[in-house]
Amino acid sequence: MSFDAIVIGAGHNGLAAAVHLASQGWKVMVVEGNADPGGAVKTREVTLPGFRHDLCAMNLSNFAGSAFCARYRPELEAHGMAFAPAKHCFASVFRDGTALGVSTDLEETVAAIRALSPEDAQVWRQMVAEFQDTAPHLFGLLGSPMPSWPAVRVLFKAWRQLGVSRFRELIRLVLSSPRDFLDRHYDSPKLKAMMAAWGLHVDFPPDAAGGALFPYLESMANQSFGMVVGQGGADTVIRAMVGLLKSKQGELITGVPVQRILTRDGVASGVVLADGREFAATRAIIANAHPRLVFENLLAATAASEPFRSRIREFRAGLGTMMIHLALDSLPDWAAGEHLKRYAYVHVAPDLSMMSRVYNEAAEGLLPAEPVVVVGQPTAIDPTRAPDGKHVLWLQVRVLPAVFHGDALGEIIAADWEGAKDNYADRVLQRLEQYAPGLRNKILARHVMSPTDLEQENPNLIGGDNLGGSHHLDQNFIFRPVAGYSRYRTPVKSLYLCGASTWPGAGTGAGSGFMLANMLLK
Ligand SMILES: Cc1cc2nc3c(=O)[nH]c(=O)nc-3n(C[C@H](O)[C@H](O)[C@H](O)COP(=O)(O)OP(=O)(O)OC[C@H]3O[C@@H](n4cnc5c(N)ncnc54)[C@H](O)[C@@H]3O)c2cc1C
Repeated sequence: MSFDAIVIGAGHNGLAAAVHLASQGWKVMVVEGNADPGGAVKTREVTLPGFRHDLCAMNLSNFAGSAFCARYRPELEAHGMAFAPAKHCFASVFRDGTALGVSTDLEETVAAIRALSPEDAQVWRQMVAEFQDTAPHLFGLLGSPMPSWPAVRVLFKAWRQLGVSRFRELIRLVLSSPRDFLDRHYDSPKLKAMMAAWGLHVDFPPDAAGGALFPYLESMANQSFGMVVGQGGADTVIRAMVGLLKSKQGELITGVPVQRILTRDGVASGVVLADGREFAATRAIIANAHPRLVFENLLAATAASEPFRSRIREFRAGLGTMMIHLALDSLPDWAAGEHLKRYAYVHVAPDLSMMSRVYNEAAEGLLPAEPVVVVGQPTAIDPTRAPDGKHVLWLQVRVLPAVFHGDALGEIIAADWEGAKDNYADRVLQRLEQYAPGLRNKILARHVMSPTDLEQENPNLIGGDNLGGSHHLDQNFIFRPVAGYSRYRTPVKSLYLCGASTWPGAGTGAGSGFMLANMLLK
C-alpha cells in the first residue's frame, strides 16, 4: 500500500502534521508503536476505576494557544476537544509555611507580591503591561521555522515596534540565566523562587544561560491568559485529533512500531512495521520519533554520513522525570492555607539554592536528597476526572538522573530505578508532608513511573527526559537537533523530523508538526 506521507509516531506533533496534510488532500497514514496514540499526552485510569490521570502532560495551555489549534479549533471541538480553564494557575510553597501564587486576577497577584515587596509588586505590574507588547514577538518567533525569513521578519518588527533599547532587553532576556534575569528585576527571594521553578520544567537550573525565557513566559502568560487543562483529561486533544484525521480519510495504526525506514537511491521510500507489513510513501516520511531512534535504529547506518550520525548521538537528553499519580480521598491540606487547593500547579521548590543543589546532584548521577516536585491538582479545575468528592494528584518529580550511582542522602541502596522507584516515591511523599501534612493518609492508591518506566511507555523519553533533548542554548533555536538541520529536513531526502527534539522543542504547542506540514504543502 502506498501513501503520500507516512508519519512515524502519534504524538500530538505527528498528529498535527497528519491532520494538516490530510486536510489538504494528502493520503496520510500514522503508525504508532504504543497501544494508544498521544505519546506524552495520554490519560489513563492507572490507580483506581474512575480516577483519570494525565500520565505525562497535564497543562495544555501551549496547545490551546497554538497556531494549529487556532486553525482547527471548530473541527477539533466538533470531535470532542474541550478545555477547563484554571484561574488560579500556579503557586510555590516555602519552608516557613507560606506560599505565593499567580491568578488571572492581576490585583490578587499584585496584592500577594506587595506583601513581600511593594517595589516588586510595581515591577510585576509593569512587566505584565509590557508583556502585551513583547508577547506577539516572542510567540511569533517560537511559531516560525528556525532559521527563516518569517523569523527574521518577527525580529525586525520587534526592533521597529519596541525600539532599540527594549529590543536589546528582549534579546538579553532570551540569553539570561533565570537568576540573572530575576536579580535584575526583583528583590523578593520568594517571588524569584516562584518564577525560577519554571526553569526546571525545561532543564534549566537557576544559573544556566538561556533559562530565563521560560520562567518569564510562563509567569506572564499565566497572569495574562490563565492556564488550561483538558476537560476529562489531557487526551481530549488527542482523541479529537485522531477523530479529525479519520474524518479526512487519514489512517492510524496503533500497537505496532515502525522497525525500519526504507530508502531507495538516498530517498526515504517506505517503512517496515514490526509485524512485517510494508508501506510505501511517495512524498514524505515524517518521524515524530527521537532523532537518535531514527538514525540509530530505524535507518541503515549507511543512510546518513558518520559525522551527521555522531552529531545526532551528541544531542543530549535533559535530566529525567518521575511521575507519581495518586488517587486521593480529598485535596491536600496545604500548610500555607486552604486557598492553595484552588491552584492547578503548586511547585515545591522553595528557593534557588535548593533548585541548584537538586540539579547538580541529579547531573552528577545521585538521587537528589530533597526532590523538586510539581504538584498538579487537575481535579481542582476539572472535578469530572474522579468520582464525586474524590481527587487525583499529578506529581512530576523534576529533576532526576537517568542512571544513578548513589543517593545524596545515602539511604536508598539500589542499582537501578526498578529497585529505587518505590523508595524514592516514599521520599517524595514524605517531603510533601512538610508542606501538606496528612497527605499520605488521604492516598487511596498510587502509581509510580520512574524515568525508565516513562521511556518504556514512550521511547522518545530517553532516560525519562521529558523534553526530547535538553533545551540548553547549544541545543535550541538553530541548533535543534543539530545545526544545519533545524528546519525538519534530514540528510535523507523525503525524510523529515518533527516533535519535541526539533524546534521549538518540548511542550504541547504542536509547533513542529504544524510548521513542517506547512513547509511540505508549500
Ligand atoms: C512527564 C511529562 C510531563 C509533561 N508535562 C507537560 C505539561 O504539563 N505541559 C506541556 O506543555 N508539556 C509537557 N510535557 C512535554 C510534552 O508532553 C511533550 O514535549 C510533547 O507531548 C511531545 O510531543 P511529540 O509530538 O514530540 O511526541 P511524543 O509525545 O513523544 O510522541 C511520540 C510518539 O512516537 C511514538 N514512536 C516512537 N518511535 C516509534 C516507532 N519506531 N514506531 C511507531 N511509533 C513510534 C511513541 O510511542 C510516541 O507515542 C511533559 C512531558 C512529560 C514526559
